[in-house]
Amino acid sequence: MQVEFSTFRPMHREIRDELEDAFHRVMEESWFIRGKECAEFEREFAGFCGCRFAVGVGNGLDALYLILRALEIGAGDEVIVPSNTFIATALAVSYVGAKPVLAEPEPGTYNISTDQIRRAITPKTKAIVPVHLYGRPADMDPILELAQRHRLYVIEDAAQAHGARYKGRRAGAMGIAAGFSFYPGKNLGALGDGGCVTTDDPQLAERVRVLGNYGSGVRYHHLMLGTNSRLDELQAAFLRVKLRHLEQWSRERKRIASRYLEEMDNPSVCLPMRNSEKYDGVWHIFPIRCRQRDQLEAWLSSRGIGTAKHYPVPIHRQEAYRGMYEQDGYPEADAISRTELSLPLYYGMTEQEISHVIESVNAFPG
Ligand SMILES: *Cc1c(COP(=O)(O)O)cnc(C)c1O
Repeated sequence: MQVEFSTFRPMHREIRDELEDAFHRVMEESWFIRGKECAEFEREFAGFCGCRFAVGVGNGLDALYLILRALEIGAGDEVIVPSNTFIATALAVSYVGAKPVLAEPEPGTYNISTDQIRRAITPKTKAIVPVHLYGRPADMDPILELAQRHRLYVIEDAAQAHGARYKGRRAGAMGIAAGFSFYPGKNLGALGDGGCVTTDDPQLAERVRVLGNYGSGVRYHHLMLGTNSRLDELQAAFLRVKLRHLEQWSRERKRIASRYLEEMDNPSVCLPMRNSEKYDGVWHIFPIRCRQRDQLEAWLSSRGIGTAKHYPVPIHRQEAYRGMYEQDGYPEADAISRTELSLPLYYGMTEQEISHVIESVNAFPG
């Protein structure tokens, strides 16, 4: 039996007519950038997150970059990011000329540790960017409290966590602002690139909007050295369709993860933490840990099962950041990069496929 690591096919088969209607609506309207679809999507997505504003942008990296620009963070400043996140979190900080300072995660949760943040704070620190990694919310309250004490901004990287809840609050509604990605593989994905910024602050929302539109609020009048980063009408129309189904898709992801958690049983495999009332994650991926990770990967592959690694090379060892970080300074990120393996988890997996993954993991000789 073949089980792909991920596929959109079952999801898109179910909503094909709705997506085609959305496409025709935009063609009929014949307005492709900054029109009704984007405005409606922004309203709907802000409502979904429980915050006042959403601003559509070009992608998730731009969302973080534009928030940092709007907060006037730049050269000479430091921003604390997790050592085990996807590189985009750090790149956004580098793009504004600030320094990404890496803080290690809490073992077990994969999310940034408040203690490690505390140790990383210097007089140059301006902001903290917790990432709700793998769809599981970071422990936000102690982070928000620490930030308040040091007068730092908290910017959420919610690129993997559309709809996740922390103590009932949605990802994207807890910091000063949040960056979302709608890359196709995210829990809410466009049929191309897309992203957005959420915030409760009207001035910040407006600054992000202006910065993403050539620094212009009124056409041909440029207030800031902006860039071009906008969510186009087609992607916004597709996202409006998909947003209506997101809760159902998240429920299904949680059901698959529950089956894995209930039925997987192999002494050489370490399973991720369950959801709880406090941490209601949306399982962007299902990460397991295994000392013989590469053998497990080959074993599953020989049984037709696709897997992935998030992420095989941590930021402090990336060529792009050569010379920036102490090579042995991030043992937790190193350990994750060597032992993490992500199992198939997508909307539309059949019971037989889920069972095949479980049986194959359980049969791994270790
Ligand atoms: C995907 C991702 C991003 C970047 O989003 P893009 O839309 O691909 O630019 C940022 N942060 C995290 C944690 C991500 O997973």
